[in-house]
Amino acid sequence: MVYLRELEEYAKENHVPIMLKEGIEFLCNYIKENNINTVLEIGSAIGYSSIMMCLNNKNLKVTTIEKNIDMYDEALKNINKFNMNDRINIINDDALNVNISDKYDLIFIDAAKSQYIKFFEKFENNLNSEGIILTDNLSFHGLVENPNLTNNRNTKQLVKKIKKYIDYLKSNNKYNTKFYSIGDGISVSKKKN
Ligand code: SAM
Repeated sequence: MVYLRELEEYAKENHVPIMLKEGIEFLCNYIKENNINTVLEIGSAIGYSSIMMCLNNKNLKVTTIEKNIDMYDEALKNINKFNMNDRINIINDDALNVNISDKYDLIFIDAAKSQYIKFFEKFENNLNSEGIILTDNLSFHGLVENPNLTNNRNTKQLVKKIKKYIDYLKSNNKYNTKFYSIGDGISVSKKKN
């Protein structure tokens, strides 16, 4: 599809960190195979993953939150190009300031890595009883497994925060979490009944 390739090219040229190919395939397959019809996404960027998810399930509705105004504007343009305005509701705000009452089949966390625990705890109330929380970037380009690959202080801090989130998921007794070495590292957390 021409438009999709344009989005991927735009992301590459403008250094927009959209989901890696393997990761987006995993997410789209999960949606197809598990009858997911509603998604709340934290971190829209240019709308690529929202659009990809909708292309893979014609019944899917997505609410997605993006705090950066330039990203939001670009995402809105792309959502319009794909005629998905009635299926993708994009909100321009810091997700931590957004209160949502709806429940979703899948919550996709793909925003500031330093705030993953906060996003999880804020939005877990928006999960349907059978729903799952999927998080991307848990490998952070391999740095989580090999922190010595960087000497940058800020990057090291971020790696520590991602590790803390992984430990948080592992010790969270309310959920069963599986970890996948796919794309940039993905977790799938399902609420225990
Ligand atoms: N999901 C997108 C995709 O795969 O096409 C990529 C999202 S990108 C990794 C992360 C985005 O989250 C950035 O555009 C960033 O501006 C946004 N973001 C970071 N912190 C946020 C927050 N607190 N609330 C909303 N958006 C946030």
